[in-house]
Amino acid sequence: MKSLTEEIVKRRVLTEVEKYPFFQKAVIALSGGKDSGSLLHVFMEVYPDKEVIPVHLNLGIGGFSEASERFARMQAEKAGLQLVVFNLEKELGFSIMDAKKLYPKVCSVCGGFKRYLLNRISFELDADIILTAHHLEDFLVRMLKSVLNAGFEELARFKTYLPRKGNLVAKGRPFCRVSENLIAEYAFLKGIPFLSEKCPIGRKENVERFRRTVEILARRQSQKLLYFSSLTKLAEKLHSCGAIPMPELKPCSSCGFLASSETCSFCARVRKIKAFLDREKAASF
Ligand code: SF4
Ligand code: ZN
Repeated sequence: MKSLTEEIVKRRVLTEVEKYPFFQKAVIALSGGKDSGSLLHVFMEVYPDKEVIPVHLNLGIGGFSEASERFARMQAEKAGLQLVVFNLEKELGFSIMDAKKLYPKVCSVCGGFKRYLLNRISFELDADIILTAHHLEDFLVRMLKSVLNAGFEELARFKTYLPRKGNLVAKGRPFCRVSENLIAEYAFLKGIPFLSEKCPIGRKENVERFRRTVEILARRQSQKLLYFSSLTKLAEKLHSCGAIPMPELKPCSSCGFLASSETCSFCARVRKIKAFLDREKAASF
């Protein structure tokens, strides 16, 4: 017998995914945590006929990344799927720990790398869409921060679904109306193995503060959903009024993926990090 949690989670995922144009092959970004592990499980239950490829990025953050990969493998195995792993250190010659030496506030670099690599891998795998497990509170925090910081450009760009554009694969967030608590209940209910340890190097105090604010502003889920829908409407209005120019995209001069600058931020940062590590190596001789 289905539990209420299972029914709600499945219904919300179905309602969201049904808004996307037809797709057949989906990449699901699997971090090893409860959110993406649950997304893989729900999605396969709701859409047993779609082709799913779980992809894990090993960022090289010591024991945390090793454990993350181990749990992502368990989750993929439970779903009967082969996990695709991209190991940053093996493929690029440096890890996020190395990048941190040059960029102490490494989360924005790490986040940008994850977005870029997921797109590149999914494009090479010929996937129709990339699904990520961002949940209701993730979106509320992001939108609230944009409003309070007058980050209207960011808010205007906010979307829960992004259609394909050239070599940028479509992106969907099926958990955008599912709260973190429900996802945790679902993960326990279904016996999904997951890593509960948090990344040891991320500086997320700011995000945590906003998260606490969201909990104070909206204790009940219905209230969170109401705020989410108001902020989404505001984002749509900002986007459609034309007052905020959207960046023009052109192929990166180095990798060819669409970007808003001559060289995309991934290629530029990879170059800088490698040069920094070379200098560091030369200085140690
Ligand atoms: Fe990367 Fe920051 Fe997330 Fe750690 S917390 S995985 S450094 S984005
Ligand atoms: Zn590039």
